[in-house]
Amino acid sequence: MKRIAIKGRRFWPGEAILDGIGEFVGWLARYHQRFLPSLPRMARRRGAEHVRSYVPTLPSATVSGLIVQKYGGSSVATTDLIRNVARRLGRVRDSGTRVVGVVSAMGDTTDDLLAIAKRVAPDPGDRELALLLSTGEVVTAALMTMALKAEGYDAIALTGFQAGIRTNPIHTKAQILDIDPTRIHRELDAGAIPIIAGYQGWTEEQDIAVLGRGGSDTTAVAVAIALGADQCEILKDVDGIYSADPRAVPKARKLDFISYEEILELARAGSQVLHPRAAELGETYGMPIVVRSSFHEAPGTTIVTGDAMPLEGRERVRAIAHDTDVARITIVSVPDRPGIAHGIFAPIEAASISVDVIVQNVSHQNVTDISFTVSRTDLARTLRIIEPVAHEMEAQAVTHSATLAKISIVGSGMVANPGYAARMFGALAEANCNIVSITTSEIRITCLIDESQVPIAARALHDAFQLDVI
Ligand code: ASP
Ligand code: MG
Repeated sequence: MKRIAIKGRRFWPGEAILDGIGEFVGWLARYHQRFLPSLPRMARRRGAEHVRSYVPTLPSATVSGLIVQKYGGSSVATTDLIRNVARRLGRVRDSGTRVVGVVSAMGDTTDDLLAIAKRVAPDPGDRELALLLSTGEVVTAALMTMALKAEGYDAIALTGFQAGIRTNPIHTKAQILDIDPTRIHRELDAGAIPIIAGYQGWTEEQDIAVLGRGGSDTTAVAVAIALGADQCEILKDVDGIYSADPRAVPKARKLDFISYEEILELARAGSQVLHPRAAELGETYGMPIVVRSSFHEAPGTTIVTGDAMPLEGRERVRAIAHDTDVARITIVSVPDRPGIAHGIFAPIEAASISVDVIVQNVSHQNVTDISFTVSRTDLARTLRIIEPVAHEMEAQAVTHSATLAKISIVGSGMVANPGYAARMFGALAEANCNIVSITTSEIRITCLIDESQVPIAARALHDAFQLDVI
């Protein structure tokens, strides 16, 4: 069947109409959420301004009484933990709810595989690197299935390829394009618990691709959408999403609710609570996501749409995020003429390197400085790309530093209320933190500071915005 393109998105014929109905059912579900918690939410919230990346077509036939549970690396780090998770999946099945498991690689496996690759080749090449990295999740899926069977449950392990997960061809940072859930449905119908290896899919060329670090969350949310599941649960070694990283801020508090928008900004600000793409998909397709502990049954943090946010969460700064995986590159004294920004950033984007904080100074004597940040792992590669470009533009020099960090405040309340920026800068000044540069979005303010000052800054901001009290 041919898909029609509307506003850059592809629809199956008739889908737009179905969507209108979905929108209404979604509204109804949200409206009655308190009373009918299991009513599937079909609303596909489109056009959210900040969801700029490609939205995949994930056809779904809604199956109720189905949840997708994703278990992160530290929840499956040992064989004992794997058996623990298998028993937990089994308990869900025993309760009559159908369940699909999505698993991450055990513990630090992905880091270990990366390190091994670097030992055999300084530049291992993306295609084979992706293939190698995908094996971590395959190991967990196979072991989890064995453990489930040993407990007497019917289960089947599926790689991303076997689960029908199609991606674009960016081997190590792929995006999911489509899921053909036929096989998963077949296994569910046969009564099995499908255990899907997260973080991976296959390309048009039939290559194996991985979704970028932390990508198993995205697998889980995309699978939940494709199956029309009632809910996607992300199970971790922490109890949910916190007002700040408890390792930096001991007073940090677990949040009961957070909005998709806020979580997306937190993820972009470097907090590793949820893969940003997972939040994007969850918001776009209205998939309820719950982040909770894999070790006990406490309810965790529910991610809701902004309008479903309980009053306690509105009109506030909700959380502090920090990110030390920051490298700054500055192109010094580049002649200021039209096209320089494009000349610099186009080749970086072509190499799929994501650029974050960008600052261009007002020019003096027709020369200007341009600074931007990338993740530290991308620093060497970015410098290799940018040095010849800067030379050609007759810039004076390219400098870099890898001792900075980002600290951010996030909260939907910022849209309507002024004064947050001043309070943030005041708190940082009082804590004696020098701000290198500042960037903002509608609901986030990010300051670049020295890495060594992150704990002090995080605690100062947590206090200034009274995040330890509701
Ligand atoms: N194993 C991959 C990583 O560590 C994917 C994931 O855990 O979600 O990044
Ligand atoms: Mg991991």
